[in-house]
Amino acid sequence: MAGTGVFAEIIDGDVYKYYSEGEWRKAASGKSVAIINPTTRKTQYRVQACSQEEVNKAMEIAKSAQKIWAKTPLWKRAELLHKAAAILKEHKAPIAECLVKEIAKPAKDAVTEVVRSGDLVSYTAEEGVRILGEGKFLVSDSFPGNERSKYCLTSKIPLGVILAIPPFNYPVNLAVSKIAPALIAGNSIVLKPPTQGAVSALHMVHCFHLAGFPKGVISCVTGKGSEIGDFLTMHPGVNCISFTGGDTGIAISKKASMIPLQMELGGKDACIVLEDADLDLVAANIVKGGFSYSGQRCTAVKVVLAMESIADTLVEKVNAKVAKLTVGPPEDDCDITPVVSESSANFIEGLVMDAKQKGATFCQEYRREGNLIWPLLLDNVRPDMRIAWEEPFGPVLPVLRINSVEEGIHHCNASNFGLQGCVFTRDINKAILISDAMETGTVQINSAPARGPDHFPFQVNQPPHKLLLL
Ligand code: NAP
Repeated sequence: MAGTGVFAEIIDGDVYKYYSEGEWRKAASGKSVAIINPTTRKTQYRVQACSQEEVNKAMEIAKSAQKIWAKTPLWKRAELLHKAAAILKEHKAPIAECLVKEIAKPAKDAVTEVVRSGDLVSYTAEEGVRILGEGKFLVSDSFPGNERSKYCLTSKIPLGVILAIPPFNYPVNLAVSKIAPALIAGNSIVLKPPTQGAVSALHMVHCFHLAGFPKGVISCVTGKGSEIGDFLTMHPGVNCISFTGGDTGIAISKKASMIPLQMELGGKDACIVLEDADLDLVAANIVKGGFSYSGQRCTAVKVVLAMESIADTLVEKVNAKVAKLTVGPPEDDCDITPVVSESSANFIEGLVMDAKQKGATFCQEYRREGNLIWPLLLDNVRPDMRIAWEEPFGPVLPVLRINSVEEGIHHCNASNFGLQGCVFTRDINKAILISDAMETGTVQINSAPARGPDHFPFQVNQPPHKLLLL
């Protein structure tokens, strides 16, 4: 159970502690932040509201610990990461329990998130040993006008203190995808977990603590992003920010100083469906891609762009599958569970009502109880509707009917987002040409957008990289 057994030391009364200087601590102010269970809409957990002084302390120790950590042999860093991965997987049940309670992740998916995270930590350790163990050797006479009189050796060195800020929807997986690469490369980490998801993240951090990482190499400060976020991202002790989330990332990039920023932001992942596509395969991918975890995935299918000639058949097939989705609490492992917060549910409802007012076809009746929204496919959506462009991050999927491939590509490229997209056709030549024209980081062919397997490149939502997955 969460907060018991080996995790008993991370909680005091009913408030989870934060992690700094290798110890679990209480905020000196005595202030805490409530975490609301999306299903019950009642307070499920509390975490410490860290002050600026407490952030300063974590930064200070992260800076000094990093210097020693960078000198720790690579094999030793890898060994500790492997140990943390094993501990994380061993304790998957209590961590998954937190994911169910604080972000309403279906029970089975919650376990998968933890196991997959452990595997990613191990994989990163393995890869790190290989990548960081290599360097480059240059000789001067390979450049015109030079004799062989100079040699150059290059190797990868750490950045320093990495500030990691993951979003609520994968608070464990997207935290370790920042933590593990940073640590294997000799950096230290200050993690600011999302408020919804903070307790899952604290349990995960404890697995690193149990593995025996030196004090200060990892810290985890909790509190609302709106309260401590700016102080953290503008902190002079930070050498790099790795952020995943929504538009908050744009604001951070404007405020941060001259340090490397790794930004993974939102998506309005387009699904272009041509006349010759296998419509059963498309329908299965649209439902899985659009409605898994109630559409709260950056790589969820967020707009279907279907050729008019096959749209009726496709919508019928998708509707038949939507009718089979189970709706209810995450504990029952339902397909559709409550969205993360009341404000999210209100935002989604706003998009639905806008589409209704502007004449979209509702394939199902709109239904909402608290934060639980029943899956909804909106057909005949037009570009003047907000849902055609905005990211609902909920179980609501718009279908725009198109009359040409160019129209689909145009819609995809006119979006503010450019994370992933997909194209369904039996003609591989066409698929590659369309993928090339879609201005997104990754294009999946005959498969829904998704992150993973976790070792596939993902952080490529901007030129000069583009990833084509077949
Ligand atoms: P969010 O509202 O942008 O929050 C992300 C993180 O930023 C949270 O930890 C949040 O903390 C923190 N934060 C809030 N204000 C801050 C500030 N002023 N300074 C620093 N940090 C601050 O996003 P979300 O609702 O958690 O996640 C959903 C979004 O993430 C969607 O847009 C989704 O597409 C995107 N996402 C992208 C990827 C990707 O890889 N591209 C993956 C998953 C999700 P609090 O929780 O305390 O506010």
